[in-house]
Amino acid sequence: MTTQELWQAALGDLELSLSKANFTTWFKQTFIISFQNNEVVLGVPNTFTKAWLEKKYHKAILVALQNLCPEPLKSVNYRVETRQHEPEVIVFSVKQPETQTHSTTPVQSISVPSYYQQAPQVDQTQHQGLNPRYFFSNFIVGKGNELAHAASQAVSQNPGNVYNPLFLYGGVGLGKTHLLQAIGHEILKKNSATQVLYVTCERFTNDFIHAVKNGKAKEFKDLYRNVDLLLMDDIQFLSGKKETQEEFFNTFNALHQQSRQIVLTSDRQPRAITDLEDRLISRFEWGMLADISSPDLETRIAILDTKCRERGYHLSTEILAEIAKTAQSNVRELEGALNKIFAFIQLQNITPTLESIKQLLTSFNSGTSSKFVSAKSLIEIVARYFDLNIVDLLGKSREKRLAFPRQIIMFLMREELKSSFPAIGQELGGRDHTTAMHACDKIKTELVTNERLKRDIENILQQVHVR
Ligand code: ADP
Ligand code: MG
Repeated sequence: MTTQELWQAALGDLELSLSKANFTTWFKQTFIISFQNNEVVLGVPNTFTKAWLEKKYHKAILVALQNLCPEPLKSVNYRVETRQHEPEVIVFSVKQPETQTHSTTPVQSISVPSYYQQAPQVDQTQHQGLNPRYFFSNFIVGKGNELAHAASQAVSQNPGNVYNPLFLYGGVGLGKTHLLQAIGHEILKKNSATQVLYVTCERFTNDFIHAVKNGKAKEFKDLYRNVDLLLMDDIQFLSGKKETQEEFFNTFNALHQQSRQIVLTSDRQPRAITDLEDRLISRFEWGMLADISSPDLETRIAILDTKCRERGYHLSTEILAEIAKTAQSNVRELEGALNKIFAFIQLQNITPTLESIKQLLTSFNSGTSSKFVSAKSLIEIVARYFDLNIVDLLGKSREKRLAFPRQIIMFLMREELKSSFPAIGQELGGRDHTTAMHACDKIKTELVTNERLKRDIENILQQVHVR
């Protein structure tokens, strides 16, 4: 067995025990540098990967290799070494955030062509830059976001060189936008002259359409292809938008070729984005994919504590724990509860007690509709998730891109709303109850083996429960 064959075999083993994203991220560019006297030296692309492998995967690597070697291994060590040509280190130059209290960086604006300013729903803050609330310093790290956080920091320390692009994904309200913007702030803190552009995918799309319509395609390209750091939020909205995908592809290439850092967020991993060109999927997987999952109780309490302090309040850990229990899967929802509590404290001018907070939380809960999500909103959420038109979704077509989401809705109506089969059929454009039965069975069976479906349903449910 050559060292290469050995490593391939070990990788095959490791792949089985890791998520696709983690595997790709950490093992893609690894290889065996040497194997002598039962000592293995692994080549890794950078110090960040080295630290991560040592800390998180050392044991798994050891076991995988040992299983293949006849004699006991003495050691496995890691060394930063690439077989590829390293991209040049680039120097950063210009950008801004706006009025803000946390940062002391001088504020400079990048020049945005005037047509942006005239566009209907232009939000300057969002278009040019960053929200002054989102920093690394007020981002709480826990199990669910550890990887995404570490990767974001690594990228801020060495933009354009560590992972390009960095692709952060996870359900709503889990801190993707926060991290994305923290990267922007951090890079600006180091060099206030860096051109940073934060933009939502929707904004990019609208600007592009607008630019083409008004004969300003060149200005559009000049703007996007000349930034040092492109932070694009909610990239899943590229789904099905052919021309915008094409433009984004070119933007991506232009930036990437110059080692300009690109950071993207999405509510799901690249492969799970429907109607996205393969060449984009593969580019998104070039760098690092890092997922964010729901925070555990401890992390939720820490987040609440930070948010309280930011607002000048101090609540006991007991009270924070009570609030943290109300929203398990979503930080935005937690903040919502906290805001209501602040409003209450202010209005009543009282010192909150555990009892009064418990009562308050119960009253919020009975007022919210998360348990009583309607069939209509469920359909809306699924349609939005798959970027489909509701009329098509409820229509007659049996195209797979419509039929499958339709079956998911039926399944969720059954599971979440406990609707009867005839009622489900009725709600979905007057279909027969046997169609609904079949759909529920099918999704249930597929859930056992289909990871992607599982993830989709989790994401959808998360959105259902935020409402
Ligand atoms: P997403 O973009 O994933 O939907 P956001 O970044 O908008 O989520 O986060 C929603 C809210 O939750 C924001 O106010 C953000 O500051 C807060 N939040 C999420 N995760 C954390 C965290 N780990 N630490 C501090 N605040 C967080
Ligand atoms: Mg977001």
